[in-house]
Amino acid sequence: PRRKNLSVDEYVTGVLKGNRPILARTITLIESQAPRHREVAARVLHRLLPHAGKSLRIGISGVPGAGKSTFIETFGLQLIQNGHRVAVLAVDPSSSVTKGSILGDKTRMEKLSRDDHAFIRPSPSGGTLGGVASKTRESITVCEAAGYDVILVETVGVGQSEITVRSMVDFFLLLQISGAGDELQGIKKGVIEIADAVVINKADGDNVQKAEMTRNQFETAIHYLKPVTRGWNCRVLTCSALTGSGIPDIRRMIWDFKEQTTQTGIFQQRRKEQAVNWFFSMIDERMRAWFYDHPEIRDNINTLKEKITSGTLLPTTGAEQVMEGFLEKIFPKK
Ligand code: GDP
Repeated sequence: PRRKNLSVDEYVTGVLKGNRPILARTITLIESQAPRHREVAARVLHRLLPHAGKSLRIGISGVPGAGKSTFIETFGLQLIQNGHRVAVLAVDPSSSVTKGSILGDKTRMEKLSRDDHAFIRPSPSGGTLGGVASKTRESITVCEAAGYDVILVETVGVGQSEITVRSMVDFFLLLQISGAGDELQGIKKGVIEIADAVVINKADGDNVQKAEMTRNQFETAIHYLKPVTRGWNCRVLTCSALTGSGIPDIRRMIWDFKEQTTQTGIFQQRRKEQAVNWFFSMIDERMRAWFYDHPEIRDNINTLKEKITSGTLLPTTGAEQVMEGFLEKIFPKK
């Protein structure tokens, strides 16, 4: 059945009251591609913005099977025990490519999702990584306005999505497991360079010693890396998301991080930089969409594309022609 549309006021009041069904609908509104929804969403966001910004935003990444959902469930429940309200968002690059999702298609975080102090939202589907990311940024704003003071942003360790998540969180945690025979995989991929902490998960049972060895390897490796957050050296810890051991240390570490970086002003500084970067990536995105959707430009591009395919036009010359035609439109020479 079609639900009645809410007014801007109803969205705003509902979110500010922490009404979860309305929070969910607000995020659905934000994720909608329809122009009329975009307009309402923009007004809602504008009203919510003054109420946002007060959470701690934590990015969590790791390959499938590293234990992200298990970790988020255990960690999230502990945070709630400590008086926090936890929102879990996801940036899933697979959903745009395969139309399926690596993150969202199993029953995940069952206890956490039933808890009144938690809100779990799967990754927006469809669109480019940039599109998914901008929706997630807006969802962070909405969750904060709804009173969630810890936002966990989960992503799979695939390609660009980790860098994207890094650009919207205060603290970035990389979840690893030992015994995969390729312990330093993350280092090779450069992902560890953007981590504030590496956590070796599944340090339980027979695996404790192996996890400790992996921890040492990472310790040695990160020694040579430049910290991603000024004044904070990447920490390496072990934990078991299954038993909960090591999780309180992780929580303390992250809150230490917040305290230290807030004192030095680095925390606030990064938030400002992130806002500016978000601004620029929105301009990039809108420019591209406008440019490639413009009928004349599209026709021109299609014509030139054929010439390039048939080998009668050099790609650089073609690009030059497209740009000249475009610039001549906006800034006609007298
Ligand atoms: P994700 O794909 O990264 O979200 O990983 P999951 O949380 O779904 O975990 C993958 C598998 O590892 C599941 O079978 C979990 O039960 C298991 N697992 C997760 N954390 C731990 C842990 O700390 N110890 C052990 N022994 N198993 C774990």
